[in-house]
Amino acid sequence: MKARITVLPGDGVGPEVTSEAVACLASVAERFGHQFTFQEALIGGAAVDATGDPLPEATLDLCRSADAVLLGAVGGPAWDGHARDQRPESGLLRLRKGLGLFANLRPVTVHPALEDASPLKAEVVRGTDLMFVRELSGGLYFGEPRSYSDQAAVNTLPYTRAEIERVARVAFELAGSRRRNLVSVDKANVLETSRLWRQVVNDLAPSYPEVKVQHHYVDSFAMALITRPRDFDVVLTENLFGDILSDEAAVLAGSLGMLPSASLGGSVGLYEPIHGSAPDIAGQDVANPIGTILSAAMLLRHALNLKDEALALEQAVHRVVKAGHGTGDLRGGAKYIHGTRFMGARIREAIRPPRATAPRLVDSAYSFCGSPEGHRSQL
Ligand code: NAD
Repeated sequence: MKARITVLPGDGVGPEVTSEAVACLASVAERFGHQFTFQEALIGGAAVDATGDPLPEATLDLCRSADAVLLGAVGGPAWDGHARDQRPESGLLRLRKGLGLFANLRPVTVHPALEDASPLKAEVVRGTDLMFVRELSGGLYFGEPRSYSDQAAVNTLPYTRAEIERVARVAFELAGSRRRNLVSVDKANVLETSRLWRQVVNDLAPSYPEVKVQHHYVDSFAMALITRPRDFDVVLTENLFGDILSDEAAVLAGSLGMLPSASLGGSVGLYEPIHGSAPDIAGQDVANPIGTILSAAMLLRHALNLKDEALALEQAVHRVVKAGHGTGDLRGGAKYIHGTRFMGARIREAIRPPRATAPRLVDSAYSFCGSPEGHRSQL
């Protein structure tokens, strides 16, 4: 297969982790006989410095014409004082909006070898296998009107029925292909937007009779997530709650650096780790590349429909982590601590085409990105 992948390294650790993920994709292409072309473009602070715009038109065009987009991270203290539309993060928000992405899938699994990397007790995190579905293009981050003065500031949290319904359908379909358990997180006791959110989820539920639906208030869910994470399967929530809760869930996996994401809904998907640009460790060859490498695996599965290839990459990560290797953020779980480049190289060495027949190479109860089946057709 031939595929064109636009790569947006961005700022901070972004270039370090994306270069490992691109090298892994190139290894997968070589092992499986595919031809992937990578085209780099500017986003975030790097784009502000070069062009004055955190999302230059040329970048958006290159993303729109690609088969998939792989992104590192944007932002950093150098651009903190800039006006809102000159900030790196506004480039990323515009990219998500410009590609029509409304569903952000964030799988959270706990690798058996890393149970002790979490500050939570191993018996609490063991066996966690969650899939967050975060609404990505509406809510507080995009609400108008918005304003700021040093005496008063306004943000608004609007959602339409159509916006809620399309992301809720993604969550119902994912739940149907997993453990058939959907929890919708809102604040319906206080917010009108959340009342509508809950109503729409309830209206859809009869169309998915196999899926058990529960509703949770966001405050109590924040506690349940780290006290009994195994009780949950697919978690559907709006933009802001999803942003916060999925970072909280990173505590379960041992590090923010472990978690991938896929943003879907438009004609081209965006694949990126959930972490930011980590300016405190940028340029030191210490960032964990696994979240970005697993995002590349999601790209293979969702954008290119290459399921065996996605599995081969996830299994490579699994083998390396199982053998005790990790970056500094996994201290306490990993036995051997390495730099970013060395971790990437080990993972590439471990990429092998999956065997045609059983036994499965990944432990049956465990897979990095949730259900091994792709969900592309459902979007
Ligand atoms: P962050 O995710 O960058 O870092 C939080 C902590 O996690 C830091 O201690 C960092 O060292 C650590 N960390 C993050 N990624 C890691 C990795 N791969 N390996 C090891 N450790 C890792 O969040 P922050 O510090 O709040 O934000 C820094 C900048 O990133 C800000 O400018 C913020 O706006 C931006 N940001 C961007 C995105 C994105 O591009 N999607 C997301 C969140 C934050």
